This record gives sequence, C-alpha cells and structure tokens, in this order.
Amino acid sequence: MANIAVIGAGFVGLSTAWHLMREGHAVTLYDPVGAAGGASFGNAGTFATYACIPVNNPSVFRDIPHFLLDARSPFRLRLGYLPQLAPWLARFLFHSTAARSEHTSRALAQLLGRAQMGYDAMLQAPDLAQFVRPRECLYLYSSTKAFAQSQPGLALRQTLGVALDVLGRDEVQALEPNLSPLFERGVLFRGSWHLSDPGAFLHTLQAHLQQQGLRVVQSAVSHLRPGAQEVVVECADGAQAFDQVALCAGAYSRALAAQCGDAIPLDTERGYHLLYPGSSSLISRPVGWAERGFYMTPMARGIRVAGSVELAGLKPEKHAGLLKLLEHSSQRALPGLPSATEPWLGFRPTLPDGLPVIGRSRASARVVYAFGHQHIGLTLGGVSGSLVADLVAGRAPALDLAPFAPGRFL
Ligand SMILES: Cc1cc2nc3c(=O)[nH]c(=O)nc-3n(C[C@H](O)[C@H](O)[C@H](O)COP(=O)(O)OP(=O)(O)OC[C@H]3O[C@@H](n4cnc5c(N)ncnc54)[C@H](O)[C@@H]3O)c2cc1C
Repeated sequence: MANIAVIGAGFVGLSTAWHLMREGHAVTLYDPVGAAGGASFGNAGTFATYACIPVNNPSVFRDIPHFLLDARSPFRLRLGYLPQLAPWLARFLFHSTAARSEHTSRALAQLLGRAQMGYDAMLQAPDLAQFVRPRECLYLYSSTKAFAQSQPGLALRQTLGVALDVLGRDEVQALEPNLSPLFERGVLFRGSWHLSDPGAFLHTLQAHLQQQGLRVVQSAVSHLRPGAQEVVVECADGAQAFDQVALCAGAYSRALAAQCGDAIPLDTERGYHLLYPGSSSLISRPVGWAERGFYMTPMARGIRVAGSVELAGLKPEKHAGLLKLLEHSSQRALPGLPSATEPWLGFRPTLPDGLPVIGRSRASARVVYAFGHQHIGLTLGGVSGSLVADLVAGRAPALDLAPFAPGRFL
C-alpha cells in the first residue's frame, strides 16, 4: 500500500482517487475549491463514447473564415492572447491534417472503448448510480450541407466502432417534438448516457471516498518536489511527503508539471453554459446542434446549454457575445425555453494534438500525470483513473499509453 497525493478534484482526480483507494492505497486529495471546482462542474454531462473526432481535424482549415468572421460561429480567439497562444495554435493546426487527426481519433477510440469499464464498478453504488440517465445523445444538423460535411467524421466514427443511427427530419421531430422543425438530419449515438448533475455526482463521490478514509486538503498545491525516495507536496497548509503523486489538475496542470521537469504545451479551450431552470421536460435526452457547437441537456435543475470554444487563456472574464449566441441559438432550437440564468465559464484542458497526457513524468517515476482531456473529461475520467492505478501498481496498463506520453511533444 502506498501513500499517494491526488491533485485536483474533478472527474479525473476523483476517479483516480477512487481507483487507487479500491486497490488499498492511502489517498490525500488536494483542491482549493473542493469537488467539481473546475470544468467538471459545468459541462454538458454527456458520457460521450462516440466523441473520437477531435476539434483539430481537417475541417478546421475549411472553417477558419467562418470561425473568424461569422457572428454565429461558436468559436472565438481573443487577439490579445494570440502572442501567448501562437506556439500552441501552430501545433494545433499541425495536428489537424487528415493523417494526424486520424491518429488522434484512433488513440481516443482506444480510451473511449474502455470508458464504460472505468465507471462500471463505481456506479454499483446506488448513491452514484442515481445520477445516471440512460438516454442516448442526439446530434442535429440544420442544413443538409453541414450533414454532408460531417460524413467523413461519421464514417471514421463507425470504422472505430461507434454505433449510430442516422435520422431524417420526421424522425427527429418524432423523438423530440418540442424542437423547432429546423433540423434536417439527426444522429443518435447508441450506448451514450448523461448525468443529471455532474457537480452533485462528484460531491457524492468525494463524500463516498471520505467515508472510506480519503483525506481532503482544501488548498492549492504550490510546489511539487520529486526526490529519489518521495515527492514533497507543498501548499498553504504546509508540506507533506508522499510515495507517489497523481497530477490531475485539468487546465491548471502545466505549471506543476514544469516543476517536475516536464514542459507540456497545455492550454485551454474555454467553454460556457447557461441554465434554463425548470424546463427539463422539454427534451428527453442531450441534444447537440452541430453547426452551433452546443448541447442542451435535461438536468436536475433545468436544461443546461453548454458549449462554445474560446481561445483566451485562464482569465476569468466571460465573453458576453458567446453567451448571447448560446442563449439565442438554444432558444431558436427549442422555442419553449424561458429566460437563461447562471452563466458559467469553464476551462477545458487541451493539448495541441487533442490527446490527454496519461503517463509517468519523464523526470520522476513517482509522479504520474492524467490531464488534458479536452471536451471529454467526464467520459474519460474513470478509465484515466484506472490507468493511473495500473501505473502506480507497476502493472502493464490496460492499453498502450505511447500516444498519451508526457514527452511526445519534445
Ligand atoms: C462547456 C463544456 C461542456 C463540456 N461537456 C462535456 C461533456 O458533455 N462530456 C464530457 O465528457 N466532457 C465535457 N466537457 C469536458 C470536461 O468538463 C473536462 O474535460 C473535464 O471536466 C476535465 O476534468 P479534470 O478533472 O481534468 O479537470 P477539472 O474538472 O478542471 O478539475 C481540475 C481541478 O484541479 C483543481 N486545481 C487547480 N489547480 C490546483 C492546484 N494548484 N492544487 C490543487 N488543485 C488544483 C481545480 O480547482 C479543479 O477542481 C465539457 C467542458 C466544457 C467547458
């Protein structure tokens, strides 16, 4: 049994703590905010095993003028952040070619293929299973042109084992009668599900683990000092030595990884959500509007509309225009929606190749990384935690971790 620190209490960190504690390790969890303090709080809640097509795919080159010039584009780039972002952006575009993007899709599909297994045992607990809604996600296209443009991605998904049904206009309407009749095509992803409240799920998971002995330190880790025999973790509460450390701090992981000797080009794709309180009965499943880049998910407190991509770093200022677009687009898709409330901004952790980092620090075998899960960290939290547990135990991981290696950008 080892004494292990897990840094970050999002889907990745708490799942990692769960898998480590299941194997008998003593775990201390560090997070300044507590459970679901980051992107894990406000996501769209979908368990998206179909999401193996990264944002950086060849369509990016076709869509750049739309991204930059069209007011309806769900993508924004803050020009003032460009100098800082430029190296990341150059690599992101480098990885958007057909061959490199397919490499990313194949590696993601490997992880996604084990995503359900990562949660199966955890979801045996009734207090966690109560948040699972087994309703398949529906992707919508409002123009036949957009649907036609999505064909290469859909074909690749199917090649990689994603089960899907293509629906026509009438079938979409029959499935979700409250939607506006503007959708030409839909894609239903078999086997997907969603959570009714991602934040409450993680609070419950943390409470569950605390009952089993998880120690929680509500403080930000300021320094990691890996040594030959131990890793020292420093925060405002003091310093403590551990046998191993799992760094799962999402978009905030870069500086701590650098302290361990690993320069990892992590940045963030910012995303937003709005809540329409008390409206959940308007749809029966998560519904995504492909061209507008958002999901509407029926959750416990109402429909949550979540999406957009803004490249603007970790500053807390929200983009009013993107929030307005999210509100306008969702009310157009679902005309019965009331006024939107509770605007939220979150930071997706994204590497330029669209793959997470899962593996040991190059500088210290006592530090394991699991961060950078971009748009699918809820989905991949469980499997990432199980892979960290494999590494800590010294077992061969359940899948080849070479595509996720921390040193792959050197
Ligand atoms: C709008 C939106 C919609 C999304 N929809 C989906 C979806 O439907 N399905 C899906 O699978 N994914 C979705 N995602 C992506 C998903 O939310 C993220 O990939 C996931 O939350 C990342 O989890 P994480 O645990 O790595 O990071 P986070 O949830 O960000 O957690 C990191 C934690 O580290 C803590 N921390 C930071 N610095 C320190 C420090 N120095 N010391 C200690 N702790 C620290 C933070 O407080 C935070 O709690 C969405 C994201 C957004 C923004």
